[in-house]
Amino acid sequence: MSRTVAHEKRDLDSNNKFFDMTCPKCAIKTIHQLLEAIDTVWIEEDTTGWESYQIIQCQDCQTFSFCKESQLSECHGAESDPDETFYPNFFDFYPERGDVQSSLTLPHKLPAIIEKVYNEVLYAFNARLFVIASIGIKTIIDEVCRDKKILKKASLLLKIEGLADAGHITVDSAKILHRLSVLGNNPPNKFATQDIKELRATIEVIDHLIKSVYVLPELAKDITSAA
Ligand SMILES: [Zn+2]
Repeated sequence: MSRTVAHEKRDLDSNNKFFDMTCPKCAIKTIHQLLEAIDTVWIEEDTTGWESYQIIQCQDCQTFSFCKESQLSECHGAESDPDETFYPNFFDFYPERGDVQSSLTLPHKLPAIIEKVYNEVLYAFNARLFVIASIGIKTIIDEVCRDKKILKKASLLLKIEGLADAGHITVDSAKILHRLSVLGNNPPNKFATQDIKELRATIEVIDHLIKSVYVLPELAKDITSAA
């Protein structure tokens, strides 16, 4: 089976070099700049493939990452016009990034360890490091309980109950967090779609927990002192 390959460095002056993309470090969508692109076309029998290898850079934190964009002659579908053949572009990123973004503006008074681990949980989840993300979520629960003196030496399950009893999370949220004891024991390659969905839900509960423990009390204080 013969295969021919041709590649060429793209002249970026003729391209739009800036675009929105989730940054693996910021864990939110930021403006990225395309710095270099090598475009490749290969032909093998009746199949033609186009691949572009790109170095990109977040314009907020300056982190570099890598994107492989591709099209394949075998992969096509119809757009709204049935006479037009549509070739979708596929994207692979390194480091990988997902779509979980923080809904929080982290408060100034958040303990440094919680802020650090929270950011790393988002990074790990988006990079599909699910075991690391679930360990990080347990660490956040431990640290919140230590900071707020809630059942410091108890098991994870009792600490979750303690947070619910103190009114920091709802009973339903506690049920979602209880799944952590199962999820964290999954081997890295055994995270099914349902497990990922549950892990994503635990991150949402953690967002609410941080809001309840650290953000809302500050807001309440501001409102009281302004009245
Ligand atoms: Zn960034």
